[in-house]
Amino acid sequence: MQTVAETFRQRGQVIGFVPTMGYLHEGHLSLIRIAREKGDIIIISIYVNPTQFGPDEDLNLYPRDFSRDEELAKKEGVHIIFYPSDTEMYRSEHLTVVRADELTNVLCGTSRPHHFQGVTTICTKLFHIVKPHFVVFGQKDYQQSLVIRRMIQDLNFDMEIIVAPIVREPDGLAMSSRNQYLSAEERQSALSLFQSLNLAQGLIHKGEKNSDLIIQKIRESIESYPYTKIDYISIVDPYTLKPLKEITKSVLIALAVFVGKTRLIDNFIVNI
Ligand code: AMP
Repeated sequence: MQTVAETFRQRGQVIGFVPTMGYLHEGHLSLIRIAREKGDIIIISIYVNPTQFGPDEDLNLYPRDFSRDEELAKKEGVHIIFYPSDTEMYRSEHLTVVRADELTNVLCGTSRPHHFQGVTTICTKLFHIVKPHFVVFGQKDYQQSLVIRRMIQDLNFDMEIIVAPIVREPDGLAMSSRNQYLSAEERQSALSLFQSLNLAQGLIHKGEKNSDLIIQKIRESIESYPYTKIDYISIVDPYTLKPLKEITKSVLIALAVFVGKTRLIDNFIVNI
């Protein structure tokens, strides 16, 4: 992959890269389309990275269907799918990790303590392998996009990052490979994330400034749906991820909710 990437670079072609864990949906495809507008060569990776999963998480269950993904990627004009095996990515001697402190011990980092170290480490490896001029990430994983943006700055990666908007189902549920775990009843309850974010946005637009009160309203809204268990609801500064008690500027409202056994995340940036 490095040799091939170098050839593209020497020809002066711009490489756009979209890292994924596969089981592609419209969210992933929107990232690919953005990459295609800007790049000459579009590379995606499909790799379910074991080091970003906790011991009790869904690594083994995570949906995989390479031939379906390959077909979708081809239709979108992807030039190369980088699809490594675990042994190719992590030799048994692998020691080195990349960590971004502060930004990773809040929000999803609280209940997934090793997750972001896995993400920053695998992205570093993928960036060195694929040698992109720019990478495209989704706002769906807002914290991840912020951590990668910061890593790119802090460690002088010579590339640009683009963050693409969240693609949703017609009823508002954010698209996710994990949505396919949901039963029909759980699928109804999964709407609670989008509904409660909408509710919160409405309150802020009406002038509500008290974060605790808004968080309480979100909590009540989510808990009114069966099968839901809240992991976290946070209203934070979109750049530092520090909690904001009073809403006086744009905020990130981020949440994670278990619906049955499936952990779903969603977020809104609310501008005032
Ligand atoms: P994943 O395969 O879930 O690791 O996601 C790969 C990339 O696609 C990440 O940058 C995600 O943020 C992005 N992504 C996943 N779901 C969506 C969505 N519904 N809308 C936009 N981007 C998404």
